[in-house]
Amino acid sequence: MLYTIIIRSTLLLLVISLLTGCGDSSSAPGTTVTTAFESGSIGTVVKVSATEWELTIADDNNNSSLPATWRSWWYVRMDNAATHTPTTVTLKNSGWIYYYLPIYSYDQKTWHRFDESEVTRNQNNELVVRKQYAQPTVWIARFYPYTFSDLENYLRRIAGSPFLEIQVPGYSQNGRPLYLLKLTDPNSPVATKKRIFIHARTHPAETPPSFLLEGLIGSLLSGSNAAATLLAHTEFYIFPMHNVDGVIAGNYRSTPKSENLEVMWYLDAANPINLRADVPQEISVIHRYAKQLMSDGGPPVVIALNLHASNSEPDIRTFFYPHFGTTAQGYTAPQAALWNSQIRFIDLLAARYSVDLLEPAPENGGSGFVNNPFPESWWWANFQDTVMAMTIEMTYGRAGFAPRWVTPDDTRQLGTALLWAIGDYCSGASAAKTARTVADNSTGRQLLYPAWYPPNAADELKY
Ligand SMILES: [Zn+2]
Repeated sequence: MLYTIIIRSTLLLLVISLLTGCGDSSSAPGTTVTTAFESGSIGTVVKVSATEWELTIADDNNNSSLPATWRSWWYVRMDNAATHTPTTVTLKNSGWIYYYLPIYSYDQKTWHRFDESEVTRNQNNELVVRKQYAQPTVWIARFYPYTFSDLENYLRRIAGSPFLEIQVPGYSQNGRPLYLLKLTDPNSPVATKKRIFIHARTHPAETPPSFLLEGLIGSLLSGSNAAATLLAHTEFYIFPMHNVDGVIAGNYRSTPKSENLEVMWYLDAANPINLRADVPQEISVIHRYAKQLMSDGGPPVVIALNLHASNSEPDIRTFFYPHFGTTAQGYTAPQAALWNSQIRFIDLLAARYSVDLLEPAPENGGSGFVNNPFPESWWWANFQDTVMAMTIEMTYGRAGFAPRWVTPDDTRQLGTALLWAIGDYCSGASAAKTARTVADNSTGRQLLYPAWYPPNAADELKY
C-alpha cells in the first residue's frame, strides 16, 4: 500500500504576485515565484525589476539559529516569466562559497543544467543566473530534485518483483511511512547468504543517493546472470528515504524540528546495542531494524552503507569516510582490520566504476567518529570490524566528468558499479590498490579551492 502525498499547509508558501499598473488591461500578468510544492524552498523573494530577482536561500524550517552551512537547497517555480528577454536571478545567503550550476525544467520531469555562460558570480560571491526562458513557467533548483512522491512512483514501478519485498517498519514523526526494501532470492538457502544494510536521505536535500539506489536496484532486478547470483547469496535491506518529513518540507539537512538525524545515534550508556529513549523516531526505526538483523539468528550484516552527497567544489568526485588506519600508524588490530576492509571496498568500487571518478582515500581516517553519534559509531561500538560500515559522499558538480556536469544517469551508473563491488567484496575479492594518491592531481584538474582539498575526517560533521 503506497501512500499519497498531500501537500501540507505547513509547507513554506511564498508567493510574490506583482501586478502591473492599475487599470492597464493590456499588461501581461506579473511574474510570480512560489514554493508551494513538494520539496520546494526559498526564503525572501525580492523583485528588483520586472526581469530581475533576488532570492534568499532559506534556513531549514526558517530557523535562523541553524548554521550557515545548512543553507544550500532551494527549489522554486516561476510563472509568467519573460520569454522575450533574459531573467536574472541572484542567489543570496548561501552557506557555501562554491560555484555551481543550478538546473531548470519546464515540466518538473526533464531537467537541464544551466550553461556555465549563464551562471556567474557577482562581487559578493553570490551566484547570478541569467537566462531567457522558452516557456513562462519554469522550475529552478539547486540540483535534481527527488521527492517522496518520486520514491513512491519508483516503488510502484518495481513492485511485484519476486525478489523484492516492500515493508513499512515504522513511520516518521509526521506519520509518513519509512519504507524498507528487502531484495533477495527467497528460494536460495539463507544459511549461505550475507546481509547488506543501506540507508539514504538522512539529509533530505542530498538527492544523489536516490539516483544511486535506482541504479543499484535496477541492476539487481535486471534478470542478468550476475544479478541472479548476487540475489542468491545476499539479502539487501535498504531504507531509501530516512528523513521523509524533511524531504517533503524542502529542508536541506534536518527534520521539521531542525534535528540532524546523522548525529543523533545516542548510545545507551548501560548497553551500546541500544540507543537512548529520546532519539528521534526515524532513528529508532532504522536502529531497531539493524539490531534485529544482527540478533535474529540469520546471516550477519557484513556491509552497512550510509549514503550522502557533499556540497564540494565542482571538480571533487565521489568520496568516502573510511575510519582508523594501519597498525603501522598506531591503530589496534581490530581498528586496522576495519580500515583494511574499507580500503578493499573502495578499491573494488574503483575497479568496477573508474579510479578517475573517485577521490583517493585519505592516508588515514582518524578515530574521531568513535566519540560522535554517527550510525557508523553504533556499528563500531557493537560489531567492530565485522561490519564494514562507511559513509559515501556523492557530489553535485562536474564530479570527475569535466568538462560536463554530473547527471542522474551518471549516478545511477555509480549505483550499478556499487552493486557489483558489493558482490566482489562479499566473495572475498581484492582489487589492485589504486595507484593514485591524494597528492596526485594527474588528471589535470585546476581546483578552485585547493585549501579545502582533500575532504577529510575533520569535515565529516559538515556533510
Ligand atoms: Zn549528508
